[in-house]
Amino acid sequence: MAASELILLAMDESQILRLMERALRAVDYEVAIVHDMGGLEKVLDESSPALLLIGETFHGENGIEIAKKQLDRFPTLPILLYAEKDTTGTAKAIVSAGLSGYLYPPLKTDDLVDSVKRSLARARHLGDWIRREVRKTTSSLERRAEISEAEKSRLETIIANIEDGVIVLDEQKNTLMMNRVARSAFSLDELDITGKPVVDVISNTDFQALMTKADDGGVKYYELNFDDGRVFNAQHTPIPGIGSAITMQDISYLKRLDQMKNDFVHTVSHDLRSPLTAVLGYAELVERVGPLNEQQTEFVHRIQGSVQNITALVNDLLDLGRLEAGFDTRRETVQIENVLQYSLGLLDALVRQKNIHLTQEIARNIPPLRANPIRIRQMIDNLIGNAIKYTPEEGEIRISLQTEDRQIIFQISDNGPGIPLAEQNLIFDKFYRATNVAESSRGTGLGLAIVKSIVDAHHGRVWVESKLNQGASFFVVLPALAPQENQ
Ligand code: ATP
Ligand code: MG
Repeated sequence: MAASELILLAMDESQILRLMERALRAVDYEVAIVHDMGGLEKVLDESSPALLLIGETFHGENGIEIAKKQLDRFPTLPILLYAEKDTTGTAKAIVSAGLSGYLYPPLKTDDLVDSVKRSLARARHLGDWIRREVRKTTSSLERRAEISEAEKSRLETIIANIEDGVIVLDEQKNTLMMNRVARSAFSLDELDITGKPVVDVISNTDFQALMTKADDGGVKYYELNFDDGRVFNAQHTPIPGIGSAITMQDISYLKRLDQMKNDFVHTVSHDLRSPLTAVLGYAELVERVGPLNEQQTEFVHRIQGSVQNITALVNDLLDLGRLEAGFDTRRETVQIENVLQYSLGLLDALVRQKNIHLTQEIARNIPPLRANPIRIRQMIDNLIGNAIKYTPEEGEIRISLQTEDRQIIFQISDNGPGIPLAEQNLIFDKFYRATNVAESSRGTGLGLAIVKSIVDAHHGRVWVESKLNQGASFFVVLPALAPQENQ
C-alpha cells in the first residue's frame, strides 16, 4: 500500500476528527483537514486526495449532497461518510448516492482504518480496470489507425508510381488527387490543385471535351492530344460515393506504329498503281493485235477483271490514306439530295438486275452542306452499294433524307442479312467483314472505313442499327451549313 496516500477529512472541528487524524497518520496516511466548501474544493482540485471522508453535516450543509456533487466531478473518488448515527435511512441515502461506505459512532480506530483501506483498495481496483479498458481500446484504435494509415500510404505510393496517369475527382469535379504522370502530362508539376475544379486546372481542349461528354453519360474512352505530339487514351469511370476517376495511358507509340503502317500501305499502293495500269493496258491491247481463240479471250478477260479489282482496292487504300492524313480539304456548298440522285442513277442498273424494291423519302428544303462533293458521293455510293450487295433478290431498300436541328440525317435501310451485334462496332474498321457474309459475298472490307473517314472529315457521325437476319439501317448525320454561311 502506498504510504503517502492523501486522505481528505472534511469535517467540522471535533474530538472525533482529531481521533481520525491521529489514527490515519498512525498508519502512515497523509491527512488533510478542511472545514468549509472553499477548502474542500481547493484540496480536491490541487492535491488529488486518494479518499474523502466527509461528515454527515459539513459546515452547516448536507454531507451526502456535497459528496454527490463531488462524485459527479470525480466519479472514481472513494468517499466515506461519517454519520451521526446508524439508521437505515442514512444507509439507503449513502447507497443511492454511490458513496463507498459510512462510519458511525462509537468509532473504533480499527474500523476507520479498515474502511479506509477497503475503499481505497476497491477504488484502485476500479481505477486499474478502467485504465486497462482504456488502454485496450486505445491500442486497438491505434492499431486500426496504423493499418489504415499504412494502407493509405501504400495506395498512395502505388498510384503515384503507376506508369498511367490517374486523376481522382469528387462529385463536383474538384480534384482530389492527381499522380505524377498526369501532372507532368498537363505540365502541372508542383502546382497545388487539390480541391480545385479540374476544368479550371486542366486547359487541354480534348480533356475539356472529355469532361463535357462524361457529364452527358456519353463516352468512356477519349483520345487526348498534346502539343508535343503525345497521345493519351483517357478513360472516365464514375466511382459511387467518391466521384470519378480518369486514367490515361500513353499510346503515342501505338499511334506512331499505326502511322508507319499507314505510310507503308500508302507507299505500296501508290507504287502498285503504275504497273497495274500497264498490265491493264497491255491486256486490252492483246485483243487488238491479232485474233484470239475463245479460251484466250476468256483468260484475257479474267486478267482484266482481276486487275480492275486490284486497281479498285489500291484506289481505296490511297483514298483512305489521303482522308486519314487530312489532305481532303476541298469544301464547296453541296446539295446532298442531288448527289444522292446522281448515285442512284448510276446504281440503277444493279438495283434492276436484282429486282430490288427501292423507295426514297426525301424531305423538302434540305439545307446545303459544306463538303467535298466527290467524297459525299463516295460515301453514298458505298452505303447504297453495300445495301444492294447484301440484300437478296427481290429485297427492299429504303432511303431517307431529313433535317433536324440543322443536321442532315441520311438513312439507308435494307432487309438483308443484317450484322451480328458483337461485330457492329468492328465493321467500320479497315478490312473487317462480318462473319455472316464473309463467305458468301466478295469485298475487301474497306468501304465502311472510307465512309467513316469521310463522315469524320465532315464533322459528322455514322452508325449502324441492325438485328441479325432482319436487315440493317445505316445512319449518317452531317452538320448543315448555317444560313448566313450559305453563299
Ligand atoms: P468493300 O470494301 O468492297 O465495300 P465490304 O462491303 O465487305 O467490302 P464494307 O463496305 O466496309 O466492306 O462493309 C464491311 C462489312 O459490313 C461487310 O463485309 C458486311 O459484313 C457488313 N455490311 C455492310 N453493309 C451491310 C449491309 N447493308 N447488310 C449487311 N451487312 C453489311
Ligand atoms: Mg462495301
